[in-house]
Amino acid sequence: MVDFIQMNCPSCGGQLHAQRDMQKMFCMHCGTELILKQDDAGSLIPIKAREIQASTKLKEIHYSMATMDLLKSRIAELEEQVKQIRCIFLEYYQTIYTSAWNRKYFRDYEKENKLPVNMENLYANYFDTWDDYIERNIPGYTTPSELIEFSHFIARPKYKQDKYIETILMILEPLPPLAEELKSKKAQLNAILEQTIEQGG
Ligand SMILES: [Zn+2]
Repeated sequence: MVDFIQMNCPSCGGQLHAQRDMQKMFCMHCGTELILKQDDAGSLIPIKAREIQASTKLKEIHYSMATMDLLKSRIAELEEQVKQIRCIFLEYYQTIYTSAWNRKYFRDYEKENKLPVNMENLYANYFDTWDDYIERNIPGYTTPSELIEFSHFIARPKYKQDKYIETILMILEPLPPLAEELKSKKAQLNAILEQTIEQGG
């Protein structure tokens, strides 16, 4: 014997008969698509399918927004850490600057990478406003990947004798994992943004 349950359509109020194991039905009076949900007491209640879809979509959007906020704050945190490392690196350059021949690897790096800016000149010309320069983009010494490349460059055996290299490498050492995480968090954020745009369209 099939167990029928009586209920009323939430759209037109018409009487419905549903089987206990049904999950979905159409109202025979008004045709509204209904989803049958069990309430806390275990009895079936009919809900308009359209409302469920709307609230599910809303939940998805809220979830995406919360995830995006988390990603954004982590990205800001990582970017701040990268910026701090860069500041320490540029400040340390002032120490190196006073010792003439040690800057050879900077010159070599700039030459090999055909950089439009020369750190040495930059520092010589703007000695008084060096702090401003730390805030600016110095080609070859700004992005995490540039700084990582520089650290690989100076790790070459021919510069091994230089007493400052070890400290520079130590300053730049935390960059690779930070850059890696930054890249993946940005990719995640972009993926969610693209998804949100698709949903909205
Ligand atoms: Zn109905």
